[in-house]
This record gives sequence, structure tokens and C-alpha cells, in this order.
Amino acid sequence: MAKHKTHFEECDVLVVGGGMAGTGATFEARHWGRDLKIVCVEKANIDRSGAVAQGLYAINCYMGMQWDENQPEDHVRYARNDLMGMVREDLGYDMARHVDSTVHMFDEWGLPMMKNEKTGRYLREGKWQIMIHGESYKPIVAEAAKKSADKIYNRIMITHLLMDEAKENRVGGAVGFNMRTGDFHVFRAKTVIVAAGGASHIFKPRAVGEGMGRTWYAPWSNGSAYALPIAAGAKMTQMENRIVLCRFKDGYGPVGAYFLHLKTYTQNANGENYEKKWYDQTKELVGEYIDHHPTPTCLRNHAFIQETMAGGGPIQMVTTEAFQDPHLETVGWENFLGMTVGQAVVWASQNIDPKYTNPELTTSEPYVMGSHATCSGAWVSGPEDLSPPEYFWGYNRMLTIDGLFGAGDTVGGSAHKFSSGSFTEGRLAAKAAVKYIEDQKAEGINVTDKQCDDFKAKVYKPLDTYTVAQNEITGGTVSPSYISPIQGLQRLQRIMDEYVGGIATNYMTNENMLKRGLELLAWLEEDLEKVGAEDYHQLMRAWELKHRALTSQCVTEHTLFREETRWPGYYYRGDHMKLDDDNWHCLTVSRRNPKTGKFTMEKVPVYHIVDENEKKKAS
Ligand SMILES: Cc1cc2nc3c(=O)[nH]c(=O)nc-3n(C[C@H](O)[C@H](O)[C@H](O)COP(=O)(O)OP(=O)(O)OC[C@H]3O[C@@H](n4cnc5c(N)ncnc54)[C@H](O)[C@@H]3O)c2cc1C
Repeated sequence: MAKHKTHFEECDVLVVGGGMAGTGATFEARHWGRDLKIVCVEKANIDRSGAVAQGLYAINCYMGMQWDENQPEDHVRYARNDLMGMVREDLGYDMARHVDSTVHMFDEWGLPMMKNEKTGRYLREGKWQIMIHGESYKPIVAEAAKKSADKIYNRIMITHLLMDEAKENRVGGAVGFNMRTGDFHVFRAKTVIVAAGGASHIFKPRAVGEGMGRTWYAPWSNGSAYALPIAAGAKMTQMENRIVLCRFKDGYGPVGAYFLHLKTYTQNANGENYEKKWYDQTKELVGEYIDHHPTPTCLRNHAFIQETMAGGGPIQMVTTEAFQDPHLETVGWENFLGMTVGQAVVWASQNIDPKYTNPELTTSEPYVMGSHATCSGAWVSGPEDLSPPEYFWGYNRMLTIDGLFGAGDTVGGSAHKFSSGSFTEGRLAAKAAVKYIEDQKAEGINVTDKQCDDFKAKVYKPLDTYTVAQNEITGGTVSPSYISPIQGLQRLQRIMDEYVGGIATNYMTNENMLKRGLELLAWLEEDLEKVGAEDYHQLMRAWELKHRALTSQCVTEHTLFREETRWPGYYYRGDHMKLDDDNWHCLTVSRRNPKTGKFTMEKVPVYHIVDENEKKKAS
């Protein structure tokens, strides 16, 4: 351990993760905290990190309030509908009322926006989406963060949060290691904003073996955003609400521009509109939710899954009509070039020209996220002017640990933020974090050297384990005394896949399977004490795995707690197949006791603030 040099940094605002939310937080922290020390720590390099690393073709959340295209209330209703009623409307409204100003800054900073030639407005892909030439999206927002921060640390993975030893339940910073130099980094901080993205690869992916990295969600998103606060004892919400995506098969190319702009549509292998076929069956399960417009994403998945199980696959996207128009054909291809080049390569390798062949679609393995059409994440305080008492404890986007804030995928209950909304939420969290410091709430924080040293020993343990255990390797990578990160990851993915509603069971689970899954996850946790790492890259893999495993426990506990099938098409509780509004029209909240490792669960009311306020105004 002594061979790993320790660096100490003291700062006011520490941003963990420099993706969309982290760059937004870093930028805004400087705006409000002119004299504060602001540091951003990123596992990769912020120029090309996070879910937007490769670029995007559309900004999926823009109200267009300047042209009265949409109002924040409309967006709240939209997100509520898509999530089958279960969102934090205070958080969604707060994001929506600020998101346009974020997009206008992106425009000023040089992000190439497509314009409607007739109106001069941003070119709409759909009601909420505007189209961009977004290959350079991430470097542009990274530049804003770089100009705002006192220091950006790249290539440092944060492994643990530090806690204040002077006052209970107050954060004191974070620790991590540099995966290039191997050095240990201690960041003592007055506030910490966790913005570390969501979680892929906790469920076994469809693409395994040599294709393992080819998932819809970025393979490097490993759930640190959840594991860091869970380990420290923060409350989480809606962690059962994993997302399954309907995307082009094998390359996971996006379908948004195809559906919305190119007006392509889906059919089964016999050329039939299969969604209609499953209407009555779906109505049996979820009642009137199936009549909502637009049809909630999970219910469209449900029809897809049922049709495939009934033998109607492969499901296809009908591109052959739209692609006869040369302009739409160009848009179809450019959509991939700005965002998912791999899909174009897959089609080329499979001899698919979408002008003549309707490409296959698939449903992905589940992912855990808080910013897409899904709302898993931390339980945070909302803004004081909107939030009911249960949702408000002083500072916007503060978790249930004092001084610890979240944004983007980290924050639960607020779906449909996407890239622009995540950046916006980072801004909101940073503004509140600065206020927290100004209000003198972060005085007298004490993080002892012992706490840091204890974490240091833990962080490097996989290297020590390997150093000893490699002498017992019996062949290849087989050793009785350690498991490698990839072995542990595959074991985790199988547990989640087979017991918690992955692709192996067509997203089906039940109480018995979940309980068994929890047992297996507990044994995995024990064995992860013996994970070995042969170099710093593998050390990162080891910590990514530990974060994934803890996130998975939380997902499983939540899935067990909610005794209904709220989102058919995302997952099914076979023992409670119907949506149950009488008992489960509520948010689920968990807390893991850091001392015992035990989770406790509770129901919290879901308040429909937008229409309640309107009802009050009317009466
Ligand atoms: C496949 C895909 C397609 C999408 N398409 C669109 C679209 O077309 N339009 C749109 O508007 N939005 C889109 N989104 C949504 C958008 O990308 C996300 O909403 C947004 O990136 C979330 O921001 P975030 O900061 O929470 O996470 P990210 O942007 O993913 O950033 C998380 C950051 O944290 C870092 N990190 C992780 N762990 C650690 C750690 N332990 N220590 C230090 N750093 C860490 C990561 O490296 C990363 O840089 C898409 C998302 C995905 C996954």
C-alpha cells in the first residue's frame, strides 16, 4: 500500500463524474460561487466521457417556451404518463422550467443546431426533441466545465464517499485512484455532487463473448452514481424501474429519428400491426393506462415481447417506404453517423440496405438509469417553491445525506431529462450546493487521516489479493484463492438475468426468484472480498464490479418490495401480474444501513402536483 502515493485536495464543491450533469454542475458552481474552489473528477476524460461520448443527433428535452411550443406542465404530464404515473413532479417541473436556457447556451457555445427553414426555429424531431449535428456535443460542454473548474482530474475513479466525523450524516468528500499512475487521491470537500451516470452490464447482455461491449447503454457506466450514496446510507427511490429499450438489432442504433422524423413504423414478420393484437390483453393488466396517448414506452415493449413469444418475430422497422425519399434516406444514415456508427457497420456486415430490406428490431437487456424513459436513483429534496413537505428538506437536489447532492442519472423520480435536462439538473444542484456553503452548513467538517487510510487499504486490496493468489493459479486464470473482475461480472449478470427479470426469463420474476437472487447476491458480495486485480486497469474493473453488485442488491430489494407489475415491458412480477393502483400508486424508497448492510423499504406518496395545482386554481 505504501508504494501508492497519496495526493490531498481540499475544495468547496467536488463534482464526481464529468458527463452531462457533471459538466453542468461544474459550470454553474462557478457562476454562483465566484471565489469557491471547484473540482471535477472524472473516470475517463471529460472531452469524451459518459453516455454522450460518441455524440447525439437530437436533444431530447427542449420545451420551446419562447415560441409557446410546450410548457413545463406539459412535460410533467408527459413524463408522468410514460412512467405509468410514477414521477416526482416537483423535480420534473423544476428541470423543465429551466431546460430551455441550457439549450440556448449550447447554441451560443457553438453546438450545430438544425433549424426549420420556414420558421427559423429549432428543427423538431418530435414534440420534445430538436435535431442537432451532435458529434461534438460532449467536447463543447466539457470546454465550459474546463473553463469553470479550478481543476479537472481525468482518469480517476471515485470509489467511496468520505463522511464527516464531527457531525453525523454529513458528507466530507471522496476518495479514488488514478488508473494510469495508480496514485491514491483524497478530496476533502464541503459539498459533493454525484453525477456518475447510470448502470449498464448489471443484467447479462444479449451480446456476449467477443461482442460483450455492444450494449445500448454505454458499457463504462457502472452504477457508481448509485453505489456511492447507497454505501454511505443515502435513501434511494424507484430502483425497480429498470429500462428495456426497443432498438435496431445487434447495433442498438437509435429509433427516435426513425419513428418521429422519418415516420417509419413497426410490423411483425407477417407484415401485421402487432401492437393492436395485444390491446385487450394489455388492458387486462394495466386498465386504462393502455388508452393514454402517447402509449407509455413500457407498454409498447410489452406488445413487442408478447408478439415475439407468440412466434410473430422477427419484428421489423419498415424503412423501405421512407428511404425512397433521398432526403429521408440521408437523415436515416446521418442519424447513426452522429451517434451510433456501429449500427451502420452492423448493417453493412449483414448486407442490409434499409432502402430495400426492413431491418430487425430487438428489446435490450435491462439498464438502470434516472434520466431516460426511466427514473431510478437517489431520493432528493426538491425546490422549495414546488415540493410538498415529504419532498423537501432544505436544498434542491440534496440527498438524504447533508451536503451530498445529485444530478442526471443519479437522481430518481425525474424521468425524461435526457442530455439537456441532466445538464440542467447539474446546474440546479450546483446552485443549491453553493447556497449550502454560503449558509455555513459546511463548517467544521472533520475527515481524519485514519478514515482515508482505511479506504486506501480497501481500495488496493484486489492488487494485494492477486499478488498472493497468482502463485496458486492452476491453469489459465483458474485460482482457488481469487476471482477476476470478469468472472465476478459474469456471475453477477447471470444472477440478475435469471432471477431479477432479465432476457433469460423474458423479463419475468417473482417473490421466490427475487429472494433466491438476493441470497446469491449476498454470497457474491462475500466472494468479492476475494476479487483480484493484476494491474490498475483491472483494479478499476474490480471497483466497477463492486459498484454494480451493490446497485444490483438495491434493484432486487426494490423489485421484491413492489408487489405489482407497474411497467409490463420493463419487467413482470409473475405472482402479481396486474398493475395495482389501490396499493401501489406510490413511490418506493429504500435505505441500506451502512453498518449492517440491511435494506429497509418504505412507500412514499406520489403527489400529482401539476394538475392538483390547476384543480385548486379552478375551485
Ligand atoms: C444510448 C443512449 C442514447 C441517448 N440518446 C440521447 C439523445 O438522443 N438525446 C438526448 O438528449 N439524450 C440522450 N441520451 C440521454 C443522455 O445521454 C443522458 O441523459 C445523460 O448523458 C445523463 O447524464 P449524466 O451526467 O447523468 O451521465 P453521463 O453523461 O453518462 O456521465 C456520467 C459520467 O460519470 C463518470 N463516472 C462514472 N463513474 C465514475 C466514478 N466512479 N468516478 C468518476 N467518474 C465516474 C463517467 O465516466 C461519465 O463521464 C441517451 C443515453 C444513452 C445511454
